[in-house]
Amino acid sequence: MTTISTNRRSAMGLFGASILAAGAASPAVAQNRARGGDLGAAVTAAHHRHQGFAEGKNADYIPALAAVPSTYFGVSAIGPDGAVHEAGDTTQLFSIQSISKVLTMALVMKESGQQIILDSVGVDATGRVFNSIDAIEQYRGKEMNPLVNPGAIATTGNVKGGSPDEVWNKILGIHSDFAGRQLEVNQEVYKSESDTNQRNRAIGALMWAYERMPMDPLVATDLYTRQCSINVNARDLANMAATLAFGGRNPATGRQVIDASLVPGILSIMATAGLYDDSGKWLFRTGLPAKSGVGGGLIAVSPGKFGVGTFSPPLDEAGNSVRGQRAIADITTALHANPYAQFG
Ligand code: GLN
Repeated sequence: MTTISTNRRSAMGLFGASILAAGAASPAVAQNRARGGDLGAAVTAAHHRHQGFAEGKNADYIPALAAVPSTYFGVSAIGPDGAVHEAGDTTQLFSIQSISKVLTMALVMKESGQQIILDSVGVDATGRVFNSIDAIEQYRGKEMNPLVNPGAIATTGNVKGGSPDEVWNKILGIHSDFAGRQLEVNQEVYKSESDTNQRNRAIGALMWAYERMPMDPLVATDLYTRQCSINVNARDLANMAATLAFGGRNPATGRQVIDASLVPGILSIMATAGLYDDSGKWLFRTGLPAKSGVGGGLIAVSPGKFGVGTFSPPLDEAGNSVRGQRAIADITTALHANPYAQFG
């Protein structure tokens, strides 16, 4: 079993190596740029450009993820008019994995306010791999960002409820509300991850020992494992991202899923740690808040402009989808969506 837990500071991620190269746009993207940015054309061009790009490797520390065909590639995006623009395998289901961390965090903020995340979990980056135990020890369970495993398991442990079932129904409910349809758990992934999540159980127990979560740590870790196993497709991810892009209102259902006042905090946490210890490289390249999952999903949010979701299982060393990052970086460039690039 491979565990993503080593110090990878010495290794340059695939995306890191490609930061400069990614600036060269394909003719289709350049043409689109000249037209002032068209989301549909940018999605099609990005999918076309990176479809044949075969770098990266499926996650294999969760055995069921290693078996997913690496060739799947879907890109889906939703702009202000609510229209869905997509290319490739956008209805193929896969497990949401760490992207669920954003949604459960949103649920905790919705029912208990943002302050609980600031006070009990923290919002700074650990700068470590997402399942680092060193980071917990270093900070004694404080300042564990909700988008890496220690903070995420503690966040799940902060969902209110009288029983695990009640908590679970709320977690599945918020995921479904963000997706705009009723979602279900991928039982094969849930079993595979439950059989091999000893490290996450240890993380949950340590967070509990440092009094960072109110729930029994084994129950919290099981609920966290279940939320990571929820099946989604790239279109669901686009709906989730677009809900965040447009003030907490789901463009497909018209439903206000979370209050708009919660969105800036959520996006700032995504910008800080959404791509784990490669979040800085990602922000440098795109300027956009984003979140990845080891199942191969990736979401990114351009506030007021678009939400995008991609699916491509091969990951770089930090655990982020290689083609997903490339496709979203291209779309961001095509639509001039980097908020730090207003003048150039
Ligand atoms: N369920 C996975 C884990 O806890 C999620 C990790 C991820 O997507 N980065 O290891």
